[in-house]
Amino acid sequence: MSWEVAKEAIDYILDHEEDFREESVIWDFIGGEPFLEIELIDKICDYIKTELFRRNHHWFNSYRFSFSTNGINYDSEKVQAFIAKNRTHLSIGITIDGTKRKHDLNRVWKSVSPEKGSYDDVVRNIPLWLQQFPDGGTKVTISSADIPYIKESVLHLYSLGIHEVNINCVFENVWHEGDDRLFEEQLMQLADAIIDNDYYQDYACSFFSEHIGKPMDKVRDNGNWCGAGRMLSVDAAGNFYPCTRFAQYSLREKKAWIIGNVRDGIDKNKLRPFLTLDRCTQSPQECIDCEVASGCAWCQGENYDAADTPTIYQRATAICKMHKARVRANNYYWNKLYRKLELTGEKKPENPVNPTC
Ligand code: SF4
Repeated sequence: MSWEVAKEAIDYILDHEEDFREESVIWDFIGGEPFLEIELIDKICDYIKTELFRRNHHWFNSYRFSFSTNGINYDSEKVQAFIAKNRTHLSIGITIDGTKRKHDLNRVWKSVSPEKGSYDDVVRNIPLWLQQFPDGGTKVTISSADIPYIKESVLHLYSLGIHEVNINCVFENVWHEGDDRLFEEQLMQLADAIIDNDYYQDYACSFFSEHIGKPMDKVRDNGNWCGAGRMLSVDAAGNFYPCTRFAQYSLREKKAWIIGNVRDGIDKNKLRPFLTLDRCTQSPQECIDCEVASGCAWCQGENYDAADTPTIYQRATAICKMHKARVRANNYYWNKLYRKLELTGEKKPENPVNPTC
């Protein structure tokens, strides 16, 4: 993204307060790898702060800059200077997938031969990151090939000092016969390790939540799962999307869903379908009546990409059997934990919050 496009996007957003009525704002830098462009990002953040002040905008002092980084150049002088400058308004998550074996399955240097994973280059920056962001959490995404490594990966992340592991299955249709059983077994083994070693007292894993696996009310629990359409994504050319998952580079089958650009603004007609999305209007009857519906997530972009026609009103349910396996493992986890707490008279740990995507 050029500086000119970034500036036009910020100006558009700040010039149209009536379209962005939120009390606070998160400016989220999504790459590729955002810290490769730290100089540009620093200039963008300075401009945002200056403009918020100059306009006496209600977001001044009510904003965050958010980053998901691969962590490779986290300790570089420029990134560290940026962190020092913006420390109180920053959220930074470093993506590390688990053990070296698991991480290096997917994350390899593009230009290094023979193939080399990036685990060692990331993990050396974890202590500095945790020193600066002690509550830093990491996000792990599970696909079919990753299932055998779930338990060891979560425990490994705990051993690195990461207290919050946000983890979820991909929404795409990648699952094979028997994956749900394997997944359930891994989660039950993880449950045993967390409870037997008292990790539940200080560590969280979002796979285990007391609130999942219950029927949902058609009226009371009818919200949309994700925030597509209630946030604004801007690409390098200055096009607007309801979420970055609707940009062409994120889609397999469908055409990009562009809702405007930095020069012409938002086309409200293209945005309108997103504003009436709720659980019942996009779910099949099986999901509406499902006994274990709560916590069963969807991704609006994947719904669109996997739908029979170019609609966002057809929920993709490839995750169904994985959610049911997660519910079974949760029953095991909470039963076992409650029995232990009853015996020891300990207080119940707080529930982790589920990541949305
Ligand atoms: S996808 Fe499956 S588990 Fe999820 S709500 Fe629908 S029927 Fe239930």
